[in-house]
Amino acid sequence: RSSLKIGLIPADGIGKEVIPAARAAIEALGSDIPKPEFYNLDAGFECFASTGTALPEETVEALQDSHCALFGAVSSPITKVTGYSSPIVALRKKLDLYANVRPVVSVAENAQEKPRVDLVVVRENTECLYVKQETITSTESGKEARATRLITERASRRIGRLAFELALGRPRQLVTIIHKSNVLSVTDGLFRETIRAVPRFAENGRYDNIQIEEQIVDSAVYRLFREPQIYDVMVAPNLYGDIISDAAAALVGSLGLVPSINAGDNFVMGEPVHGSAPDIAGRGIANPLASIRSAALMLRHLGYLNGADRLDKAVDGVIREGQVLTPDLGGSSKTQEVLDAVLKKI
Ligand code: NAD
Ligand code: MN
Repeated sequence: RSSLKIGLIPADGIGKEVIPAARAAIEALGSDIPKPEFYNLDAGFECFASTGTALPEETVEALQDSHCALFGAVSSPITKVTGYSSPIVALRKKLDLYANVRPVVSVAENAQEKPRVDLVVVRENTECLYVKQETITSTESGKEARATRLITERASRRIGRLAFELALGRPRQLVTIIHKSNVLSVTDGLFRETIRAVPRFAENGRYDNIQIEEQIVDSAVYRLFREPQIYDVMVAPNLYGDIISDAAAALVGSLGLVPSINAGDNFVMGEPVHGSAPDIAGRGIANPLASIRSAALMLRHLGYLNGADRLDKAVDGVIREGQVLTPDLGGSSKTQEVLDAVLKKI
């Protein structure tokens, strides 16, 4: 690649404050990556309110023409607003971003020590209850609501492969399958069996050295809080993965620190795990570190390991020194000051 085309979709609330910070961090990498070309794209609830669509067609087309993207956060109303649906869910579908990958890593006191938490949650992104097939009927004894939960062999296999690939690049080489097949033996049974079978179908015994464990989702959460160090790569169907990855974020302090990527075979989109934070939006105090780490993950996924390492090391350094932190981490610095501290280290 002679240049790296990056779509930027700040969307709502603090997304508008943290995505520009991530852009500045990427620009500071210089020759570690191909020359970045940025495209500012619109989406989100404010976009819906002013234009009638939360995901303009131009945004989708521009992304299809890019190598990767960074997404800020959307505000989603809790009650149904006619005509509105989440652009992030739509983008995952349109770009076939079937995996949501969230590393959760605590920063050790000094660079030599091992972090207490160092795991990555791999969440299937396209099916499970999120196919959104819900019905409601009236019966003699009151209303009855039902939802369809879809698990396919195809989606389970590809998310499994992605989890094994990630494990190959990590020192512990462990994959833990999260399920509830003691109760949901058909759906979760298929997920579990399909992922267990992934190494058998791999070429040249590619995954033979990877250890596979499994855990029932409720006890997985319990153990996550008591002994997070037992986990390396956790792979889960959509709903369990959603809950576990937010819960895991609590282990490392602030939502403002946890990055993610939405990945498919042809595209990757970085996205901080946090939302639009209406309580602090517009005040210049949002923590930009989750977004900068999301940029690092995105670059890592594309194979730009040096660039990714430099971003991650700069962020870790700023956290470890503890001098320049936003209020969510107990500091009193502004977004811009934290960004400047990161840029200095890059
Ligand atoms: P939130 O993540 O926006 O905020 C939760 C709390 O964490 C707030 O107190 C907020 O101030 C704080 N926080 C979050 N990110 C921070 C950061 N970078 N720096 C400092 N503090 C930070 O979650 P919420 O309040 O439940 O939701 C607010 C809106 O965001 C809702 O409309 C929700 O639907 C939406 N949301 C979007 C996403 C997404 O885009 N992926 C995820 C979660 C929530
Ligand atoms: Mn969530």
